[in-house]
Amino acid sequence: MTVTAQREQELLASVPTGLLINGEWRDASSGKTFDVHDPATGKVLTSLQDATSEDALAALDAADAVQREWALSAPRDRAEILRRAFDLVTERAEDFALLMTLEMGKPLAEARGEVAYGAEFLRWFSEETVRHYGRYFTSPEGKNKMIVTHKPVGPSLLITPWNFPLAMATRKVAPAVAAGCTMVLKPAKLTPLTSQLFAQTMMEAGLPAGVLNVVSGTSASSISGPLMKDRRLRKVSFTGSTPVGVRLMKDAAENVLRTSMELGGNAPFLVFEDADLDAAVQGAMAAKMRNMGEACTAANRFLVHEAVAEEFTQKFADAMKALKPLRGTDPESTVGPIIDGGARDDVHALVTEAVDAGADVVTGGAPVEGDGYFYQPTVLKVSSGSPILGQEIFGPVAPVITFSSEEEAIELANASEYGLASYIYTRDVNKLFRVSEQIEFGLVGFNAGVISNASAPFGGVKQSGLGREGGAEGIEEYTTVQYIGIADP
Ligand code: NAD
Repeated sequence: MTVTAQREQELLASVPTGLLINGEWRDASSGKTFDVHDPATGKVLTSLQDATSEDALAALDAADAVQREWALSAPRDRAEILRRAFDLVTERAEDFALLMTLEMGKPLAEARGEVAYGAEFLRWFSEETVRHYGRYFTSPEGKNKMIVTHKPVGPSLLITPWNFPLAMATRKVAPAVAAGCTMVLKPAKLTPLTSQLFAQTMMEAGLPAGVLNVVSGTSASSISGPLMKDRRLRKVSFTGSTPVGVRLMKDAAENVLRTSMELGGNAPFLVFEDADLDAAVQGAMAAKMRNMGEACTAANRFLVHEAVAEEFTQKFADAMKALKPLRGTDPESTVGPIIDGGARDDVHALVTEAVDAGADVVTGGAPVEGDGYFYQPTVLKVSSGSPILGQEIFGPVAPVITFSSEEEAIELANASEYGLASYIYTRDVNKLFRVSEQIEFGLVGFNAGVISNASAPFGGVKQSGLGREGGAEGIEEYTTVQYIGIADP
């Protein structure tokens, strides 16, 4: 069913437009607002208050004021808030999905998938909250008793990107709540509406005032800058590009802050000669085209054994050609727009550069004429050394390159400064273990194009970052360890 304009307007009107500080939605101290756009049409959806440095510090004041009390709250109470939030997000799944489609562009079916995935962090960490134990043991000398406990790290700055507006927020907020940290959340200026609605939902779920503060705004550095210097801040958790992450790590060093860094990716997708090719094409579509290729886990380099490269590439190109680039609210849409005009120009520049360097265009290769920032699903045949292999593409473009041996496949996979996601298609489980042992990636999909799951640790190595989100590891990012040594009685 097509979404009506009235439904869109009613939903947009229900989203809080202020800054959430100490449990209240406030206007920005400057009185300024900024517009949020629909990337499928380029039109303004709504305007939000534009946070300043002063507002950011007011948010930290609120977070700091309740940190001690929040740290002492009962784990069961925090668990129940998260569980209620899971229920509320799930009940309002259609609103969250439509809001993400409107501000980010992804087709509604995909946005529904993100709601399910994003909500799961709330449920997972509600369960983790009450099962996060310390240790009690006798010292090796047999004289003393020792206790090791976990405490919340303290007020945390959470900075999220625009590409998964709900999941990137829940993946940080849920473990921070579970651990007993207070927070200042700074969503990306291109897609802040989902975080606004999510924060409202957290308050409805019973989160005390001041625990979660949200400062949306256009000047990221004005918001984060004063917080990163403030001794009351204890942690920064960032998801976004590697250059911004590096800059934040430098700022974090000055203030000795704990950091979690989920940065860029350049995932290899390996197809061996014994792979089930139809399954590999299906997996390739998911790994490449989820979120229009605007994902840190997006397959960026298709490394295919030369014996099956022709067949794989043809089938893959046919599947890409069959996609329908339409506004995400259209039930026929199977691929949405790129987030904005500049990002689409960047994608096209990468394709043009690759073609100039000798790539063959199998399908696509150009922007889609008309409203919004759509780009044709594109498959390129490239050879080793093509400039596109060294870049995070962040768009619906798939370079395919062949290899002739397992060793060469491993070498090509590792020939990237990034190390987040990777994918391996083979029927041989021994090959899976051999290859995954030798490739430098935090995540490996085995005959699977999408493996993100709230119960599993997500994160990368090399320039893809530090730390893990989700899984049993996720809560550790927000805790610090205290050891109590007890004299022998
Ligand atoms: P970005 O680095 O431009 O922005 C991310 C966030 O940082 C936004 O909220 C932005 O406002 C803020 N920011 C920008 N400059 C800042 C500064 N100087 N100080 C403080 N904050 C600042 O990234 P993006 O374009 O929003 O997202 C795309 C990038 O994110 C890609 O590189 C992608 O791979 C990465 N990403 C990584 C993961 C992961 O889990 N590893 C997940 C999603 C996206």
